[in-house]
Amino acid sequence: MRRTIRIRGARTNNLKSLDVDIPRGRLVVFAGVSGSGKSSLVFDTIAAEAGHQLNETFPPFTRNRLPKWTRPDVDDIKGLSPVIVIDQRRLGGNARSTVGTITDAWTYLRLLFSRISTPHVGESNHFSFNDPAGMCPTCSGLGEVVVSAVDRFLDLDRSLAEGAILLPGFGNGGYWYSLYADIGSFDPDTPLRDWTEEERQALLYGGEHAARLGTRPPKDYEGIVQRFERIYLHTSDNLSERKQETIARFTRSETCPECHGDRLNEAGRTATVLGHTIGELARMEITELAELVGRVTEPAVAPVKQALLDRLGAMITIGLGYLHLGRGTATLSGGESQRIKTVKHLGSSLIEMLYVFDEPTVGLHPHDVASMITLLRRLRDQGNTVLVVEHDPAVMAVADQIVEIGPDAGAGGGELVFQGAFDGLKQAGTATAAALAAQTPINTDPRTPKGTITVTGATSNNLKNLTVGFPAGVLTVLTGVAGSGKSSLAAELVAQRGAIVIDQRPVGANRRSTPITYTGIAIPIRRLFARRSGLPAAFFSANSEGACPDCKGLGVIYTDLAFMDGQETVCETCQGRRFTPEVLEHTVNGLSIADVDELTIADAIDALPDRAIKQALHHLDQVGLGYLRLGQPLTTLSGGESQRVKIAKELRDAAEPTLYVLDEPTTGLHLRDIATLLGILDQLVDRGHTVVVIEHNVDVIRHADWVIDLGPGPGRHGGQVLYQGPVAGLCGTATADAVHAR
Ligand code: ADP
Ligand code: ADP
Ligand code: ZN
Ligand code: ZN
Repeated sequence: MRRTIRIRGARTNNLKSLDVDIPRGRLVVFAGVSGSGKSSLVFDTIAAEAGHQLNETFPPFTRNRLPKWTRPDVDDIKGLSPVIVIDQRRLGGNARSTVGTITDAWTYLRLLFSRISTPHVGESNHFSFNDPAGMCPTCSGLGEVVVSAVDRFLDLDRSLAEGAILLPGFGNGGYWYSLYADIGSFDPDTPLRDWTEEERQALLYGGEHAARLGTRPPKDYEGIVQRFERIYLHTSDNLSERKQETIARFTRSETCPECHGDRLNEAGRTATVLGHTIGELARMEITELAELVGRVTEPAVAPVKQALLDRLGAMITIGLGYLHLGRGTATLSGGESQRIKTVKHLGSSLIEMLYVFDEPTVGLHPHDVASMITLLRRLRDQGNTVLVVEHDPAVMAVADQIVEIGPDAGAGGGELVFQGAFDGLKQAGTATAAALAAQTPINTDPRTPKGTITVTGATSNNLKNLTVGFPAGVLTVLTGVAGSGKSSLAAELVAQRGAIVIDQRPVGANRRSTPITYTGIAIPIRRLFARRSGLPAAFFSANSEGACPDCKGLGVIYTDLAFMDGQETVCETCQGRRFTPEVLEHTVNGLSIADVDELTIADAIDALPDRAIKQALHHLDQVGLGYLRLGQPLTTLSGGESQRVKIAKELRDAAEPTLYVLDEPTTGLHLRDIATLLGILDQLVDRGHTVVVIEHNVDVIRHADWVIDLGPGPGRHGGQVLYQGPVAGLCGTATADAVHAR
């Protein structure tokens, strides 16, 4: 077997014909400043080639259903294995996907119940809410039912003629209006509040209420609620968007009245093991569940018990012991999702696989990072190669090898600047080495608040009825172990006080949005070229007469290949430059309009002499994104980069003092870039804004004016404020330990 993954001439994105040999069967960390090319090497080259080659072994029909991998630009790669990418994409998933089903823990729990429950129920599918044999017939295994929100149907202060029935189609002039207003049973001109209770009930529900009315409604009379449910809820038609909006407005989800959220039919939900129903176990914290399952003694189920305990144990090790198996995967955070995916693979018996992780410590308090490291090591010790893109020094310290890409971002990066052990890295003189040596000082001179923004009576999720004051006009950092309630409190701040969330969701709506379209500099650029050339500005637009006639200004030609992947090829006429040769002849500072796309933001500020362009790009440069190319699709930005683009927009636009909430803005940031981020947050605060940051990074916490530390544990063991005050006074908590260590 090959001992290394051998890469020669990697040129994807900014990689500079990189050669590197990566040891197999080891834990290797890829470090380097943000934008240096780590992902281009690990994801876009190694994982992409492994994924592509694996897909090639399947027939075309199957291939179309597999994830698409763009083939990397590389001369030669040897020594790859099948790849499993564990990234931070949220698990999402439908209402039937839970922590239990996705980790298979539920499968083992079902098996356990099928063997030893009282009374004996038999087959394990009687405990499956995704199987007709087990699902509750009322809610079809969802645990919830959609019911009419009847209280929203009527405006009691209006008469029928004034539009008292708020449902679309039922108001005055609506399709069904006359079936209620013109039958002689109801007075259309009296506000509903002045009707008798009997009359209102008859209007809504018909039936016996209607029969009791003096004036008889027609025989086929149908109350508003019945009619609404027949048309909107009990229908198998595909619902239009407008109908779906109506349903969202006039219904609500309620816990299923039959199974009370247990999702199972009567037999499945009443059987017990050790005195607990399976529904109770689904709501129990995993830590407690593991303890309970440990008490099962029947020898017949020993293997099932062990498999279940292995799964639960892995979740506890990874710091997710505060979750419960019934938790819907759609409600998990990115970091939680990534850790759940890891658990899934720990149970796998495939070996010699290639695992690729994207910043597995995201969302982890320093206190929880140790558990993640344990998992990574276990994967390696099972005989796999584990490649990790990571900025956390704690993970670098335990790696078998560190590969640093640099020296800088974008065009200034893409080279191998260090390869070796952690001790060697510290002496290497690279950006990572320098950052490891530096340390942000503890802020001993915090800003004076300009008032207090208070959240009162916060009880969502695990919060213990908190009333918390956030000081205005300063930088507050919200800390605490994973699951302690930071996001829940931040969500309350948003709900109660209208904070603006600056998150890491993508900024680019489509492949055509770039820094040029986003900042609105397309027009100033065209005008600049028009001024210099004397031609009309429209000439320099890629959807005008100046565009290449063959690719219509797209630069690529798309060929649809029915059963195969569609093929995109660079347009031969313009060589991807999108314009006609006549247009490309005209230059500004030696650059043609096509060259402008290739400029980085930082270079464009110098190379394009125009005030409007400089002003628009200035803030992006300021937030450390000067290395992005003007024509780079925003869809290629990482979460952290997208977040900084949003900060740049706020720096430019927000005039009034505003309250901002940021969730882990250091995600994807190299230690060196964290200094830049702190500078940006300071700028927001210095403009009078209030900034609240959820963060585990010690440098950010040390820099805070005010710290609110939640805990002490995750889930129901958390949800309390352990400390609030200046960072210098923080002591006696897990966060304090991390801040004062190092
Ligand atoms: P890192 O992972 O070290 O933060 P990346 O590998 O994501 O860095 O990016 C390296 C460089 O390549 C950056 O300048 C980035 O903007 C650029 N880049 C990344 N993805 C793409 C892409 N799909 N198309 C063009 N440029 C890209
Ligand atoms: P943190 O941000 O500190 O990691 P969270 O506020 O996300 O913590 O979570 C606090 C607790 O609330 C945890 O036990 C978590 O599992 C639970 N929780 C969070 N979101 C939901 C949700 N949508 N549904 C049910 N429980 C949730
Ligand atoms: Zn039910
Ligand atoms: Zn062309």
